[in-house]
Amino acid sequence: MKRAIVWFTSDLRLHDNETLSKAIEENDEILPVYILDPSHFETNTSGLRKIGKYRAQYLLESLKDLDASLRARGSGLMILYGKAEELFKDLVLKYEAERIYTKHEIAWDEIQTQKAIIKGLPHCEFLSVESSLLFHKDDLRFVNNKLPNVFTEYRKQVEKHSKVRELFACPDKINSPQIEEVKWPKQEEFGISELVKDPRAAYDFKGGEKEALKRLNDYLFETHSISKYKETRNGMIGENYSSKFSAALALGCLSSKTIYHEIKRYEKQFGANDSTYWLVFELMWRDYFRLVMEKHPKDFFMKNGIQNKVKWKLKHSDLDFENWKNGKTQNDFVNANMLELKHTGFMSNRGRQNVASYLCHDLKIDWRLGAAYFEEMLIDYDVSSNWCNWAYIAGVGNDPRNGRAFNLEKQATTYDADFAYRRLWLIH
Ligand SMILES: Cc1cc2nc3c(=O)[nH]c(=O)nc-3n(C[C@H](O)[C@H](O)[C@H](O)COP(=O)(O)OP(=O)(O)OC[C@H]3O[C@@H](n4cnc5c(N)ncnc54)[C@H](O)[C@@H]3O)c2cc1C
Repeated sequence: MKRAIVWFTSDLRLHDNETLSKAIEENDEILPVYILDPSHFETNTSGLRKIGKYRAQYLLESLKDLDASLRARGSGLMILYGKAEELFKDLVLKYEAERIYTKHEIAWDEIQTQKAIIKGLPHCEFLSVESSLLFHKDDLRFVNNKLPNVFTEYRKQVEKHSKVRELFACPDKINSPQIEEVKWPKQEEFGISELVKDPRAAYDFKGGEKEALKRLNDYLFETHSISKYKETRNGMIGENYSSKFSAALALGCLSSKTIYHEIKRYEKQFGANDSTYWLVFELMWRDYFRLVMEKHPKDFFMKNGIQNKVKWKLKHSDLDFENWKNGKTQNDFVNANMLELKHTGFMSNRGRQNVASYLCHDLKIDWRLGAAYFEEMLIDYDVSSNWCNWAYIAGVGNDPRNGRAFNLEKQATTYDADFAYRRLWLIH
């Protein structure tokens, strides 16, 4: 009997999950596992947590949904607490697993964890599968086999040579050993106080694959918001100015291939336009940042990012940083956005660009502090989307213009001309 562990990380879905599909196909039984590392919920020396309350809640909801879907197919999710490299040693022995299947990792810490697991388990095969990209890695063809340094070049080459693959079907039945009912952790165990939902939130994010697929259907077929996306995507108020797919994509409750194929289905029924194309264009940014981080797994966490010669004149001001976090800076547009993040765990793309620019270029604070605060707070935190966007704005990432200093006054006048956004967040 061939038995394998499927280690779910940020791919919490059954549909279009190449890792899961491969494991089911190549083995007689699989043991689905998720590992919660309590240290991710604790405050570190910079006063920040890896996972804050909004994402913790979304993660719990997503895990519960995944467990229910697995149980409905004869399996279940085993939740373990601790360090993966230690836990797997016992688990592999106990279940006589020959292989561990998991998602491919691209960032430094996660790569180190995978290396430690492989080292500690010389007799167990470790297979990691890239299940996050829109375009399959094996289908990417670049001039001289080199990932372009600029997004536009990347996009043009991909659009010319690559095609999005078909979806992996959702399994009907999964053979697993007996998996006990999960004892779900209490909110306090995550260091989270009870969440109070702010009625001003742009969108009520609910974790899990079912909710993600529902949102996809709503944004496309129910409200047709997709057909206006290009005109509305710079908005800041309400649930349909942008897709709000980000949290589901970040934890893998939804695959970007699924979004793509649903957009194609929508285009067949209702017609293609610039907006239906533009959402795919944004998903290509997501892919690009993932590939760039994979190429530089450590550099994106360094002050100079992937650039060599950056002249920094940084100021270290705890007070300025605290004021930025709490929406108490000199700039009301920044403040409104930072309050939205603090009270909801979400901020629009327009807002993120402006507050990041303000931290880097006006307050002249180390951009990595801003990125780390986003990591704690964002409900949709994704390692490459976050750190590469921050590096881009700070001028140490993939930007031919060497940094993006936004004119905050102009931005506020363009995107919040009637003060509706600032009134929403600054006046209670
Ligand atoms: C400083 C900064 C930090 C960011 N941190 C994150 C993060 O941690 N996680 C995250 O998912 N996005 C991040 N983004 C990108 C973007 O702001 C969010 O993806 C978007 O606002 C999420 O809302 P949406 O799903 O409604 O987006 P939509 O506009 O509907 O876009 C659809 C999808 O395309 C992808 N996408 C859109 N813009 C970008 C982008 N610039 N880079 C990468 N992917 C993109 C996302 O997966 C998004 O869900 C960051 C941007 C900035 C400027």
